[in-house]
Amino acid sequence: MARRKKIYEGKAKILYEGPEPGTIVQYFKDDATAFNAQKKEVIDGKGVLNNRLSEFFMTGLAQIGVPTHFIKRLNMREQLVRQVEIVPLEVIVRNYAAGTMSKRLGIEEGTQLPRPIVEYCYKDDDLGDPLVTEEHIAAFGWASQQDMDDILSLALRVNDFLSGVMMAVGIRLVDFKIEVGRVYDGDFMRLIVADEISPDSCRLWDIETGQKLDKDVFRRDLGNLTDAYTEVARRLGVMPKTSSPITKPTLIN
Ligand code: C5P
Repeated sequence: MARRKKIYEGKAKILYEGPEPGTIVQYFKDDATAFNAQKKEVIDGKGVLNNRLSEFFMTGLAQIGVPTHFIKRLNMREQLVRQVEIVPLEVIVRNYAAGTMSKRLGIEEGTQLPRPIVEYCYKDDDLGDPLVTEEHIAAFGWASQQDMDDILSLALRVNDFLSGVMMAVGIRLVDFKIEVGRVYDGDFMRLIVADEISPDSCRLWDIETGQKLDKDVFRRDLGNLTDAYTEVARRLGVMPKTSSPITKPTLIN
């Protein structure tokens, strides 16, 4: 088999050129990193779980009309996605205070917020992905006002969907991050959800016990990360051990 062309290697994923123009193969690694890669570990099975879980969330989003880059899962660690031009922002939605918001504003972790709060960070590892305002985003041309309206709407729709899915299995969606990409259909540009949605990019707490089922288990040395992600997959009915797709692939028009 011919070697595929690697396009990009990030902390948790590798992107290869896809089989058709405009497609990418997204490979999920087992590497876990935190604090801008100051803490690193290989966690057996994490990539397999995140591949499955991201497929599950992206497929569910497509079913309710939220456009995503996901085309189909290829195997245990790879999925075919649409090539996008990534908007250089991490879009964070918070329902409860935690993490950097708690630190920054002195709000106790777990405090329910009066409404979902959306934050934007500029994607730049060297700078540690700093928090930015819409003023920065507009002034530096990272996204237009129309883009920002669309990004906000996507982020809140993802929040409603994910919160509901998680609540149904006894998990509180504390916060999460998404990335958004541009796709061009002729002259028409639109924004779609890209990257991944997995316990690496969400905070998920058991509603009853408060047990953390997300990457904070690794960040804060709270136990076995694979066990936590497996529990999320088990509750959602996402079986990581079979190799057949759990749902039919959804093509985005
Ligand atoms: O660290 P912080 O509290 O700002 O994170 C908010 C949410 O965004 C968390 O769910 C975290 O996992 C996610 N996040 C991420 N990638 C980053 C920064 C934050 O997935 N680079």
